Amino acid sequence: MKDDLQSFGWYAARVAPHLPKEAFKPVPGRLWGGLAYLLVVTAGILTIALTDFNIWTNLLIALVLGGCYAGMGLLGHEILHGTVVRKAWIRDLTGAIAFAPLSTGPRLWRKWHNMTHHIHTQDESKDPDAWPTIEEFASSKFLQRMYRMPFSIRAFLGLAFLAITFTFHSSRMFARFISEFKPEKRAAVWMQLIIPWTVWIGLLVWIGPVKWIFAFLIPLLIGNFIVMAYISTNHRLNPLTPVNDPLANSLTVTVPKWVDFLHFNFSYHTEHHLFPGMSSKYYPLVKAELKKRWPERYHEMPLVEALATLYKTPRIYKTKTELVDPYPDRTYGTLGHGLDPKDIQEKPKELKENSIAKNPRDSMGG
Ligand SMILES: [Zn+2]
Ligand SMILES: [Zn+2]
Repeated sequence: MKDDLQSFGWYAARVAPHLPKEAFKPVPGRLWGGLAYLLVVTAGILTIALTDFNIWTNLLIALVLGGCYAGMGLLGHEILHGTVVRKAWIRDLTGAIAFAPLSTGPRLWRKWHNMTHHIHTQDESKDPDAWPTIEEFASSKFLQRMYRMPFSIRAFLGLAFLAITFTFHSSRMFARFISEFKPEKRAAVWMQLIIPWTVWIGLLVWIGPVKWIFAFLIPLLIGNFIVMAYISTNHRLNPLTPVNDPLANSLTVTVPKWVDFLHFNFSYHTEHHLFPGMSSKYYPLVKAELKKRWPERYHEMPLVEALATLYKTPRIYKTKTELVDPYPDRTYGTLGHGLDPKDIQEKPKELKENSIAKNPRDSMGG
């Protein structure tokens, strides 16, 4: 497997000469989109706070707010990669505002996402976003309990939990990374967590719990669900890889054009891993180059199909290229390794590399 893989830099070096020069410049115009979201959010929250519409109108506003919270988070991702503005303090300030609904601070995000996830994508021990291996499963009572549930309940819960996953995972990342910041930087990281939550709790005190549910809580769940619908499909159908090869370990999803417009082309995730420092505005050009050069390596599918495939397959890596439902030992391939989203089939028993009934340590091949 290792022999076929190339690093993201290898691909980037081959694609870069075929892209226009402006593709490597920041695109500050993206901030207009952020401003539009901010105005809609402010108007939505004030409408809920200052008027007494019925529950249905408030629910409709909450839906719009949820869409805005997601859009802002996706823009925050782009801003904090430095592809919108280069000046560090403007980048961090606008990134903090964009991520405020999801309450993730820019310092934490850059450490977790830019410096760890992007560098160690789909490395089972180093990528904070990678899913567990059978070894981790064997030592986790929680995972074992989850996987003993009937498949339909587990799959449904997995989908429903997307509505809280970003906030939940972000708090876990705070706990994981806070000690890795230099002591003199830690106060700032804490402040970037405390300030947004102070705003949201201040809002609760101001408008009361019922209105707060519509102004913040329901939109937060919707925002979580939308960003996680993308994030959950970015890598989870792909193999773990010993080399950080975005064509092998990342998936680009396709969505209608207006969705790409609202979400700043976040769907182009393989392209993003080749050029995280490039504005997503230019990812369609990168995609065309990738499909021209390596069509057999490139993975893409509609977002809905990717979510359906996630729903139908387990999330424990038995080997780097196989997913397993440990009870009762059903093995599936990953993208590029036998997983066909149009025809999801359990691997025939005789083709399985190892049985997890044996020592799980033996099964981490790949
Ligand atoms: Zn990624
Ligand atoms: Zn990124």
